[in-house]
Amino acid sequence: AKADGRAVYRFFERRMDEAVRRKQELKLGLRLACERDELELRFQPFVSIEHGHVTGFEALMRWRHPTLGMVSPAEFIPVAEESGLITRMGEWALRAACREASRWPEGLRVAVNLSPVQFRKPGLVRAVTVALEESGLAPGRLELEITESVLLGEEEANLQILQELRALGLRIALDDFGTGFSSLGYLLRFPFDKIKIDRAFVQGLPDREDAKAIVSAIARMGQGLGISITAEGVETAGQYASLKLKGCNEAQGFLFSPPVPAQEVGGLLERLRAS
Ligand code: C2E
Ligand code: CA
Ligand code: CA
Ligand code: CA
Repeated sequence: AKADGRAVYRFFERRMDEAVRRKQELKLGLRLACERDELELRFQPFVSIEHGHVTGFEALMRWRHPTLGMVSPAEFIPVAEESGLITRMGEWALRAACREASRWPEGLRVAVNLSPVQFRKPGLVRAVTVALEESGLAPGRLELEITESVLLGEEEANLQILQELRALGLRIALDDFGTGFSSLGYLLRFPFDKIKIDRAFVQGLPDREDAKAIVSAIARMGQGLGISITAEGVETAGQYASLKLKGCNEAQGFLFSPPVPAQEVGGLLERLRAS
């Protein structure tokens, strides 16, 4: 048993080494990724539940690593945050997303995710202003998605930044709603334009009573506060029907489309219009 234990230990040790090595490789690679054009944006539509048409797209980052292949943002964003590179990458994403969106039909919005690290760096408001001016995109067509973790810590300073961003004329969305601990408090402090219900709740629809109760409570709260409610991770027609019944405003998920490359946005719009 002792020998077994040692073997197991060595196995885990090796796995840890691999994880550490991979992380190191990603960290080094990220520095070059921006310069070598290895980063891409994919766009995933959100759909008006009431009217059925596409109202905009969320920009999601992808990294085409020369040897590791496609690396998920769930893996590389934390590495980018640790090394501080996220600020540069985030600014790139903002500019690229605004540039793409400026070619879309009028009225379609683009949503860009902001990292908490990027949020706290001075210069964010400036970077957003530049992205808007350079692309000519109307500020009302840009939506910034932040999670509650953005607001943790220096709350006053963070609310101030949100006010400044809002003053540019863009919209602020609260992402992954329901997964944190203090979302409701933030709703009292800052008038978000949109709340995105986390996929964890949507997954329980249409059958689980608890998920249904939570989703309808959030939908009613949105109505009361005048905040638009988007459900993310919608995969089935049953989930969609349930969200409609509860009065949610927008839906996003594989039921409509996965995130697609920029050049496929036009075709996707046509396909979704026809269906
Ligand atoms: P998120 O902002 O919550 O984005 C939603 C994630 O769910 C995306 O994963 C999307 O591809 C995935 N998704 C969409 N519909 C469905 C569905 O129906 N079912 C399932 N199972 N998944 C669905 P992705 O693209 O891998 O991004 C993961 C996370 O990485 C994002 O979560 C976001 O937090 C972060 N991220 C992505 N792009 C950026 C970026 O440009 N900047 C920053 N700061 N973070 C980003
Ligand atoms: Ca998001
Ligand atoms: Ca989300
Ligand atoms: Ca998420």
